This record gives sequence, C-alpha cells and structure tokens, in this order.
Amino acid sequence: MKLEEQIKNLPAGIEYVFNAPMACYTTYKTGGAADILALPKDAARLKKILAFARGADLPARIFGMGSNILVSGGGLRGITVCLKNMRGLEIRGTLLSAAAGEPLDNIVAAAVNSGCEGMEFLSGIPGSCGGAVYMNAGAYGQETFDCLESFTVLDENLETKILTKTQVRHAYRRVQDIAGCIILGANWRLRHAADIAALKARRADTLDKRVQKQPLDYPSAGSVFKRPPDNFASALIDKCGLKGLRAGGAMVSPKHAGFIINYDNAAPEDIKRLMDEIQTRVFKKTGVKLEPEQILWGKF
Ligand SMILES: Cc1cc2nc3c(=O)[nH]c(=O)nc-3n(C[C@H](O)[C@H](O)[C@H](O)COP(=O)(O)OP(=O)(O)OC[C@H]3O[C@@H](n4cnc5c(N)ncnc54)[C@H](O)[C@@H]3O)c2cc1C
Repeated sequence: MKLEEQIKNLPAGIEYVFNAPMACYTTYKTGGAADILALPKDAARLKKILAFARGADLPARIFGMGSNILVSGGGLRGITVCLKNMRGLEIRGTLLSAAAGEPLDNIVAAAVNSGCEGMEFLSGIPGSCGGAVYMNAGAYGQETFDCLESFTVLDENLETKILTKTQVRHAYRRVQDIAGCIILGANWRLRHAADIAALKARRADTLDKRVQKQPLDYPSAGSVFKRPPDNFASALIDKCGLKGLRAGGAMVSPKHAGFIINYDNAAPEDIKRLMDEIQTRVFKKTGVKLEPEQILWGKF
C-alpha cells in the first residue's frame, strides 16, 4: 500500500506527524525523517496504532525521549511511535508508580521530594520511564532495576501483563525476557529516608557532578559504549588519545571521552563513522572490543 493510502486509513484520535524529522525527537539532534510518527497519549491509543500497523503489515518502532538512539539519514519507514505523551506519576507511601512517557528525572525528583530514597543517583539521566526500564539505566552505582517492584507491558499479542522484577533477567544496561514487549508503566518500592536533608543533598550533588563532567552544552546521547568488564570505556578512549577526534560534524567530547557530541551539524553517518573509528583504534591499542550502548535505527 502506498504511503498516502496508509495515512488515510490511520486510526483516529491519535496525534500524527508525517515526514517527521527525527532530529527534533532525539537528543543527538540529527537523523532522517520518520514516514509516520504517532504520539498516543494512553495505552488504549497505543494498542490501536500497533494493531493497525500489524493489520497493514507495517513495521512499528517504539521510543520514549530519544536519548539513546541514533537514526540514520535515510529515516524510518512504517510507523514510529513516541510515548513521550503517555504521562502520569503517583506516590503512595513508598510505592512510586509512573507511566511510560514520564521523564525519569521527574520520577526521581518526586521520590526525593517525598523523602523516599533508592533512586537519587539516577538524578539527571535524560529519557523516559519506559526507556529507563528497557535500558536498565543507571549511574553512580545505582540502577533503574534496584528498587523496581514490577512493570506493566503490552506483550507481543498486544495483551497487557504485569511483570515482577524477579520474572525478568537484568544486568548492566540490559534486560532480557522482554523482547517484543512495550513498557506501559513501572512501580518502584522505595525506602523512607532517615535523613531527608542528606537525601536532597545527594540528588543536588549528583546533578552537579553531571554538569561538571558531561558535555551538556552539546547534543549527544550520553555514553556511546557500555562499560567493559573491569574497565571504563571513557578511560580507554582517553588513553588512546581520541578526545577531540572528529568525523564530519561529530566529535569525541574533549570534556568526557565516552561521549560523542554533535559538534557542528553532524549527519548521523558522521556519528556512526566516529563510533567505528573509536572501536577500531581502541581495539588496536588495548585489545578491548567496545560494545555500543546506543541503539542504531535505519540503514547505516
Ligand atoms: C546527556 C546524556 C546523559 C546520559 N547519561 C546516562 C546515564 O548516566 N546512565 C544511563 O544509563 N544512560 C544515560 N544516558 C542514555 C539515556 O538517557 C538512557 O538510556 C535512557 O534510559 C533512554 O530513555 P529514552 O526514553 O530516551 O529511550 P529512547 O532513546 O527513546 O529508546 C531507547 C531504547 O529503549 C526502547 N524503549 C523506549 N521506551 C520504551 C518502552 N516504553 N517500551 C519498550 N521499549 C522502549 C527503544 O525502542 C530503544 O530501543 C544519557 C543520555 C544523554 C543524552
């Protein structure tokens, strides 16, 4: 079916953007256009658009705030679904519940402001609740899964299911057993902090460290590579003298070697070339194979 036909048949009641520049929806601020971008505001609408994609035999992709993806210049066919409008956050005692599109930092702020500890070191990590669960985002020794109690998903058959933390295997920046599932929301069981002033200070200190150490004045998608066993990707990249290395408009951040920054209107292919170059040079010099943390969408 032609794109115009597909557009005519799209389910009503959902916000769409056609030929949507993914540069506007990702933190790298580069990337080609998505043919059809859907922005459902609740799970019922999400289910509708996914059922439509299946019926029309169109590929469908899900993302949150685009802070860990790089979209190729050729863009994305089919339906790309952004969950950033699926918002919601509630705290009852020490149980914190959030919808997929709620920004992670809002969740952390709400926890800290309610005097609950267990997530404060996640302060300032960009992205959504769903993205944080999917990636098991973490920082400073704390991970999304630490205090996670359960999360709701839409499974491959578009059925809603609640999964408890113990039902899925998780590790550093990786969650298994959820292939094909879309995270709709999550519940964290936190702890009452004995010293609320100290808890607030831990959040402020974490936010401050991120400003001090990360190149937040340029678009990026955070650390490009996963931490190799017993090492740090940024330390290895720095050791190889790669800070400031460029490919087109992309640059290895001079401030934090683990980040590639969109320094000057980088094409996604510039960023990919720089990723490849870093992997090659680090392997040649140190024997360590760096594994990308970031997710590449489209044809590179
Ligand atoms: C400046 C900067 C600093 C960063 N620092 C850190 C850090 O300290 N620690 C860290 O872990 N990460 C860090 N990141 C990376 C990023 O913030 C995290 O990976 C974040 O959890 C991604 O969330 P998102 O909503 O943006 O996901 P997206 O980039 O939108 O998507 C990432 C992946 O998750 C999947 N996904 C997203 N939402 C859902 C859902 N609801 N259901 C199923 N799958 C879904 C997507 O399909 C995609 O595969 C940083 C990024 C930036 C830009």
